[in-house]
Amino acid sequence: MDTLDTKLSAEVAAREADLVALCADLVRIPTLNPPGQHYREICTYLAERLGATGWKVDMVRAEGAPADTVEYPRWNVIARREGSRPGECVHFNSHHDVVEVGRGWTVDPFGGEVIDGKLYGRGACDMKGGLAASVIAAEAFLAVCPDFAGAVEISATADEESGGYGGVAYLAERGWFAPERVQHVIIPEPLNKDRICLGHRGVWWAEIETHGRIAHGSMPFLGDSAVRHMGAVLAEMEETLFPLLATKHTEMPVVPEGAKQSTLNINSIHGGEADHPADYTGLPAPCVPDSCRIVIDRRFLIEEDLAEVKREVTALLEKVKAVRPKFTYDIRDLFEVQPSMAPDDAPIVRTTASAIEKVLARQPDYVVSPGTYDQKHIDRIGKLKNCIAYGPGILDLAHQPDEWVGVQDMVDSAKVMALVLRDLLVPQ
Ligand SMILES: [Zn+2]
Repeated sequence: MDTLDTKLSAEVAAREADLVALCADLVRIPTLNPPGQHYREICTYLAERLGATGWKVDMVRAEGAPADTVEYPRWNVIARREGSRPGECVHFNSHHDVVEVGRGWTVDPFGGEVIDGKLYGRGACDMKGGLAASVIAAEAFLAVCPDFAGAVEISATADEESGGYGGVAYLAERGWFAPERVQHVIIPEPLNKDRICLGHRGVWWAEIETHGRIAHGSMPFLGDSAVRHMGAVLAEMEETLFPLLATKHTEMPVVPEGAKQSTLNINSIHGGEADHPADYTGLPAPCVPDSCRIVIDRRFLIEEDLAEVKREVTALLEKVKAVRPKFTYDIRDLFEVQPSMAPDDAPIVRTTASAIEKVLARQPDYVVSPGTYDQKHIDRIGKLKNCIAYGPGILDLAHQPDEWVGVQDMVDSAKVMALVLRDLLVPQ
């Protein structure tokens, strides 16, 4: 570290109490999604903090986005601080929503309590710790390097946990992540302070329905069972598709190890008579099921082509059809996302790696996420590949009871972020 890096580090360290207080305040605003509570409150909180020190702040409601209602409006906040001369913009994007609390907590999930260097609460790790770290990093940077080129942006966005359509996707579609406006993006998701997450695998969700013919259950030969047809589909998947997927390995550094290959999950299965309400006391009626549906969740690799991924499944269905005379099916696409991975030599990757080496005195690990996060929208809609996830917190703790983020981890990753700002915005 040279003198300026040392100064930046010390400035972040001196703000530790502020960082902890900020993170605790964010945790105390219960931004539960669903349904999407207190979004306006958390955006206003950040807008007031940053607006008071000269940031230009925009509050954007994702009107008309999925789940946006009068009762639960999807609010986002974007703050921008211009430098003294033209240059590039570094953007920190965090989602402000958190998932349901669930059972098993031993502390107040919205207390923001610190015990033995760990700040507890729903969203502490995923990802209010990262949001707080990015705010402190930017504030420390502005204090030490007031004369910088370009701009710094911080956003807190809605609905990442439910797809990001009321958050980053909405903003990207309206130019907030356009290449002429934003050149570097860090998403401070809890990937751990010494790891750089380059991107994620691809996703394809689809619903498969098999058809049959209803008849009396005592004379099933008069009908045609959609559930038995689906049974044949599942058997074929066990026999040929799962073994095939297990042979497809990726060069992407996906963690955990089991996700370094193509995977498929059957999310749900429904066939025949619908479930009864819990208070129904009668017996079911005897019918041959005329419909059976499954939802599949296929995660694919950067080496795979989505059209080919889909063809594998339709070929399997056609194979079943060839040996079952009455078999008919429909397949419906529900959702798809291409894999995304920043190149190793992208500026945001290089500068973050060098900052991690300086702050933590070790080489970073490079990882790829098994599932997607808001990088998908920045890549697909914003057309920006120079984007990574980097932030404090241990990913395994996300969505768990007694979720926490380490105070030292927040401080260290804030130092890394401040050094990245210096590297990109203060030409040497
Ligand atoms: Zn998250």
